[in-house]
Amino acid sequence: MINILQRYFVLHFLYYSKTIHAFSATPSKSTQSEDKMTSVQRTIKEICRKPPSHWVGDGFHVFPVFADKAFTSELSPFLMFDYAAPKHFGPARDGHRRGVGQHPHRGFETVTIAFQGEVEHRDSKGNSGVIGPGDCQWMTAAKGIVHEEFHSNSFAKSGGTFEMCQLWVNLPKSDKMSEPRYQPILDKDIPKVSLKEIGVDSDSNGRECVDEDLKLKNGYARIIAGEFRGVKGPAKTFTHVDLWDIAIANKDKDFELEIPEGHTTMVFVRRGGVEVQGKELFLADVAIMNRKGTKLTVRATEEDSSVLILSGEPIVGEPIAARGPFVMNTHQELIDAMRDYHLGKNGFEHY
Ligand code: MN
Repeated sequence: MINILQRYFVLHFLYYSKTIHAFSATPSKSTQSEDKMTSVQRTIKEICRKPPSHWVGDGFHVFPVFADKAFTSELSPFLMFDYAAPKHFGPARDGHRRGVGQHPHRGFETVTIAFQGEVEHRDSKGNSGVIGPGDCQWMTAAKGIVHEEFHSNSFAKSGGTFEMCQLWVNLPKSDKMSEPRYQPILDKDIPKVSLKEIGVDSDSNGRECVDEDLKLKNGYARIIAGEFRGVKGPAKTFTHVDLWDIAIANKDKDFELEIPEGHTTMVFVRRGGVEVQGKELFLADVAIMNRKGTKLTVRATEEDSSVLILSGEPIVGEPIAARGPFVMNTHQELIDAMRDYHLGKNGFEHY
């Protein structure tokens, strides 16, 4: 981990010192070299295949997409990513609801997206809600929260196909002990923006000369967090996080995505298959991109494919200390979190 950090610092020092050097040259030259640098294509660092699945409680049959890279600075600000692939559940017997009972979190955020079925949440701050297909809940545990996560009552009764994911996003040290927050983000409040297809004629403003409805049918991104083609998503975040849920209807069309320079970026295949920068990704693969560059080409290799783009500004120079449901910066802070939870104080008041 120290090696990765050192390499990261050295690379970034070299990169930024080059930029500064360019600025000290003549103004016209510096603009040119900046343009050249910011239009660099991202390259793939690594493609990780699907690891084995396990149960979280009795409700969520997930696989840990980040596998052994979870909780490392390499993927910062993202900590962990559980994906529950589509799975059929029969109607509940004797009113039993599947899920996970009361448990704590401290020091980070949990982001849950429902794709099929419904998840119900209830927490120690009095927040509760059901999220259904396309909805998201962005829960900031920060200094402490106790919550439970279950299949909703109505889903448990009827049964059906269930698909969801939960992403853990780290908080910077300065926000780890701030007040918890709960953001229910409904599908109807998540903007849909068409994808930019490469090779389609654009007007003088760079807008494609194609009907917007048709473009949305070809491919779109749902902007849960961050910004895409000038459109902002509803989630409030502590550091810059882009979370885009992308759907592509037809195969063999090249779409170009723009992502901020220097951010950690991953492409996860949720449905179908895609090529990223010309490399083939299969269902449940995740591509970890190198941090240099701002452009990415995605092309579906199957009709009706879907990928999640996770991209965010790395939290640099703050160690990650993680144990179970707590993610802090030091071992002592983990011990404090366990003690506070045990004593039901400093954020862990029982409900
Ligand atoms: Mn939880």
